[in-house]
Parts: sequence; structure tokens; C-alpha cells
Amino acid sequence: MTSSEQRLATIRGDTPPRRHNARTIAALTGNPGCTRRAVLDGAGVDKPLLAERIGFPARFGQSRFAITRGNVFEAQVKADGGAELLRLVAERLGVPVPAAASWTDLGGRDDVTGREERSAALLTAALTGPAPTGTETPQADPAGGTDAAALFDHPLLGLDVAGRRVYLEPDLVAARLGGRFHVVEVKSFAVIDGQADPAKLAAAAVQSAVYVLALRELLAAGGHDPRLVSHEVVLVCPADFTNRPVAHLIDVRKQLLVVRRQLDRMDQLDVLLTGVPADFTADPADDATALVDSLARVRANYAPDCLASCELAYFCRHEAGGQTGTLGRPVREALGGIDDIDEVLALAGGDHPADPERAEAAALLRTAARLRADALGTPA
Ligand code: SF4
Repeated sequence: MTSSEQRLATIRGDTPPRRHNARTIAALTGNPGCTRRAVLDGAGVDKPLLAERIGFPARFGQSRFAITRGNVFEAQVKADGGAELLRLVAERLGVPVPAAASWTDLGGRDDVTGREERSAALLTAALTGPAPTGTETPQADPAGGTDAAALFDHPLLGLDVAGRRVYLEPDLVAARLGGRFHVVEVKSFAVIDGQADPAKLAAAAVQSAVYVLALRELLAAGGHDPRLVSHEVVLVCPADFTNRPVAHLIDVRKQLLVVRRQLDRMDQLDVLLTGVPADFTADPADDATALVDSLARVRANYAPDCLASCELAYFCRHEAGGQTGTLGRPVREALGGIDDIDEVLALAGGDHPADPERAEAAALLRTAARLRADALGTPA
């Protein structure tokens, strides 16, 4: 065990580590400047448990109803060996709909190492050879081409995050359609008049990019060209207010760059750890007051976006009360260097800063306050 691994294990304490998944990896990209999050996630600290322990339980995640509805929609879309799904994906990719495709179910077993190996073997074999054995629907054209399409249900992919193996399970990987692998994600949020909720769409794009990255690394590890995995992901959602599935293509190139950069940063946790107090620990089993004191010593970077992506958001928001960060990143950046809302208001009201570096910001704030007063017809 390296000294950094030892340090992370000490930070985590005796509570079992929490594994990353595509959602948590995607969430890492949401606040790359937060040391607190990077260290806690790198150490595998159970953040939902930690948040609960310190009195600020997380309040996001899908409801039981939404999860059930999502499972029902996915089962419906994948029925009949994925026949409807194959048509949707092929049509969206603009290739002829194959007469048949192999369907390989790689999900459901608990032995993650075995599942990862089996997934890797069968996905790699789909690059060159005939369809994997044990498929439910015989393929029409073992020699390749669109008729030899292969669908892999819930393959298990691996990705190294902060030195630890993380297992990821995309809904489906389609091989040999349009000459490449395509990640297919089935989501239960509706697409209404061709438009999906932008936040949900953005989250799905980042999660899908994580799968694309893992699949590319799998191919590269086998000596294959990672570009055989398309940067275009197929998203299948219910259309309008029905259960009728529609497929959309999302280009995740930008998300791939962001995820890769953040994972590289996680790999440099030893550098981040140099800025963290040597006795910092965050074992959810510890005393709540001690945990709050401990967390306060590691730099956070709260922004309202945290509420949708980090389990510690309510704690960090409470801690950041009165700071410009609580008003959002654009406000914080526009007020660069002035963190305190009271100070911002005082400068806007005419206070002259002792620090000359704040003089320019103070002049801009006074101008903004005067313009606002003019617009509202109130005294400045
Ligand atoms: S909620 Fe807190 S720990 Fe999580 S990303 Fe935001 S600032 Fe960092």
C-alpha cells in the first residue's frame, strides 16, 4: 500500500468504502475545484452516511416510484431480444435495420470480476469474430456487416478511479451497427415535443461519456483502436406523455474530455493530499461534532449546482452561508476575490476598501448599485 493509499484508508476509517458508479464519477466533473469532495470520494468515504451523521442528509436521487417506472420502461424497450431497440438504434444511426442480431445478457451475477472478464471477452470478440455463443437470437451474417449486429445487455466495464477499480454497467452496448460500438442508455425521463429536461439530458450525457471512456479503455487494453467506440451515444426515452420509446443521438466528445481530465486529477490525489491537514479523518462512525470540525479544515467550493450532485450539499451550503458562492458560480467569479456578501453590499453602498486590489471591484459595485437605483427610481 502506498503512503497515499494508507492516508486515504485512514481518512475513510473503519466504515466500508463506497464504490463509485457512473453517476458518482459524472458528478465529480460538476465541481472540479472542490478539494473536500475529491479527497472524500478518492478515499471512498460513504458520503450519504457522513451527511446523515452530521445532520444534513442528502435529499436527491430517484424516488422509489421513478426507479420502478424506469425499470418497467427499460424492460419494455428490451423485450423480444431487443428487437424494437435494434430498430430504434439502427434507424437513429442511419443504417439498415438488421434482419436479426445476437442478444447477450451479461447482467445479474454478483461476481463482478467474472462479469467484467466475460464482458471484456465477448465485447472484444464482437470486433472480429462471429456472435458470441449462448445468444438468444441467431445472427444472420456471421461474416460481419450490419446483419451481424450484436447487442450486449448490461455488460460490466471497469475503470480505474483514484487507483481503485470501479465497475460500471451501461444499459446496453450495440456492436457492429454503423461499423462501431455504440453505448445505448435507456432513460425514463420524457422527451416532449423533441425536447428533454436540459439538466437530465446533461447528466445522461456525462454518465454515458463515462461508459464510452471505459469501453474505449477496454479496447485499448486489448490492443484495439479505442476510436471503434463511437462518441455518439444513443439515448432512448419515452416520447411525449406515452411509453413509446424514441431514440436520440448525443455527441459526448466534450464530456469525454471533462471526465478524462477529472479522472487524471483524481489520480493525483497525493498532490491534493498535501494541502489537507495530516490528521484529517471523515469516518462516518465518528462523533458528529468532531466530523464537522474535521470537514471544516478541508477546502470546499460550494455552488448551488452541488445540490443536484453531491451528498454533502446541505452541509456545505449551511457552512457557506453569507458567501458569494451560494449565489452561484457566475456571481462568485464576477466578484472575484470578494467572498463575503456583507462586504459586497457594503462596497456597493459606498464603503471604500482598505485593500487597493478591491478598489476596482468597489467602483464597479457602486456603479451597478447606482444603475439599479436609477432603473427602480429609488435613492442610491
Ligand atoms: S457539496 Fe461540498 S463537498 Fe460536495 S462538491 Fe459541493 S462544496 Fe464540494
